[in-house]
Amino acid sequence: MQAYDVVIIGAGHNGLVCAAYLLKAGYSVLLLEKRSVPGGAATTEEIMPKEAPGFKFNLCAIDHEFIHLGPVVEELELGKYGLEYLYCDPVVFCPHPDGKYFLAHRSVEKTCAEIARYSDRDAKNTLNSLHFGSVSRTRLPQSLTLPPNPFPILQAITTSKVCKIYSPCWVEWIRAWICCT
Ligand SMILES: Cc1cc2nc3c(=O)[nH]c(=O)nc-3n(C[C@H](O)[C@H](O)[C@H](O)COP(=O)(O)OP(=O)(O)OC[C@H]3O[C@@H](n4cnc5c(N)ncnc54)[C@H](O)[C@@H]3O)c2cc1C
Repeated sequence: MQAYDVVIIGAGHNGLVCAAYLLKAGYSVLLLEKRSVPGGAATTEEIMPKEAPGFKFNLCAIDHEFIHLGPVVEELELGKYGLEYLYCDPVVFCPHPDGKYFLAHRSVEKTCAEIARYSDRDAKNTLNSLHFGSVSRTRLPQSLTLPPNPFPILQAITTSKVCKIYSPCWVEWIRAWICCT
């Protein structure tokens, strides 16, 4: 029986990334997956071949954004192996039974204008929350490349500009928790 340095159970995207890094570092790896399709909850599959042949659906994860905040794509040279991200615009289409519809675009302004067709208040709140997202994304890359120790990660998040702007109670709670431990 062949021996391996590392056995990984599950070829979800975390298992795949771990296996690739370990192989790159010279370890022998056995990656076991119970399904016939690798990718775990991040797969895109043709789930209705009879009713909708050729149409592929994301079974769980609908976008794969955070991977771009870390070095994985570049370090594992995934482009060389055929990885290509396709960016849609509009990104969301929600048809209503009464014929109305909602479209979300890559442009924040265009998306908020769409929301404003239904509610000015929601459009304004969406703008604020998207701003929150863009500020937090400036800090996230740092936390994503830290070793898997919750303290520096939480510290990176809680000392970010996001906290200064929003200072929600959970951030205060985490900050207090870090200070006490
Ligand atoms: C409904 C939903 C929507 C989501 N939307 C998003 C999104 O839009 N964007 C985003 O970034 N993330 C999203 N996520 C989260 C993302 O899908 C997960 O964080 C990610 O898939 C976790 O990857 P993983 O490799 O850790 O585990 P998984 O993807 O769960 O993979 C685990 C793998 O292990 C296999 N396995 C389990 N047990 C065994 C066994 N005993 N033997 C062999 N194989 C086994 C499974 O078949 C599976 O392939 C969503 C998750 C869900 C559930």
